[in-house]
Amino acid sequence: MRWIVVFFSFFVASWVVAKQPSTKKTAKGQKQYYTIQLGDTFESIAETLGVSVSDLKRWNPRLAKAKRLPKGAKLVYYGRKVKSESVGSPSNGRLILGQSLDEDGDKQGVGWVISAQREHIYGTPDTIRYIKKCAMEYRSWFPRNKAPPVVIGDISKKGGGPLYPHKSHQSGRDVDIGYIIKGGQQAAANGIFVRATAKSIDLPKQWILTKCFLDLDATTHIFMEASIVKALKEYVMRVYKKNRQKLQKYLGYFPGGSKAKIVPDEEHTSHMHVRFACPKNNTRCIP
Ligand SMILES: [Zn+2]
Repeated sequence: MRWIVVFFSFFVASWVVAKQPSTKKTAKGQKQYYTIQLGDTFESIAETLGVSVSDLKRWNPRLAKAKRLPKGAKLVYYGRKVKSESVGSPSNGRLILGQSLDEDGDKQGVGWVISAQREHIYGTPDTIRYIKKCAMEYRSWFPRNKAPPVVIGDISKKGGGPLYPHKSHQSGRDVDIGYIIKGGQQAAANGIFVRATAKSIDLPKQWILTKCFLDLDATTHIFMEASIVKALKEYVMRVYKKNRQKLQKYLGYFPGGSKAKIVPDEEHTSHMHVRFACPKNNTRCIP
């Protein structure tokens, strides 16, 4: 009997050894890497990854001694792989591993600048990609020396959550974008939102920018002040007068249309507010 037990234990032990993966494992789980972003601290990263600050420092002794965490460097941690995720709704939610619109910290990119003094420019990777895509498309229509850059305001805080004075902007799926104003080059270059009227708004430029967002399936809402909506709608009717198909398609996005995305809202006098759908596989995201 005893021999059978010994033999059996040996069998189990060798099976356990064989099962051990080649990568280093601790009681806390699989070895993972986290790429340091601008403004990260051990505290903020620990919260994102769901590990303790002391563990994180113990796993990264060299970086723990550094004065500042170098952007782009990799931190080791043990546990579950943490992915970017939009959790909850725009007005009651948070953002896990949000991506910054301004990763290199120069406050600008192709066709866009960040509004003065804004730092809450974190979104889901989808949100960031859409903003860059539409600003680039705008710029390809209107060259740099002839058209102001697109001014990007608040998106979300790094970890999401309430962002004063907004009701939404909590889960990385909202972005404020300044209206394109006639002769607004200087103000835009300085990152200033300018109050727009039906007369001052630069309709051809504003339309190209708005159209890009409308064309994205992921765009669910574009909030704009009512007189701007009206001016833009009249412009669309003029531009697509001879193209029935496009006219029908784009009018459908206006209030009362079959796929209405544009929502008149009296607060949006200096900027439009674009909202995107939940990213794929974000199971805790609420539209
Ligand atoms: Zn907004």
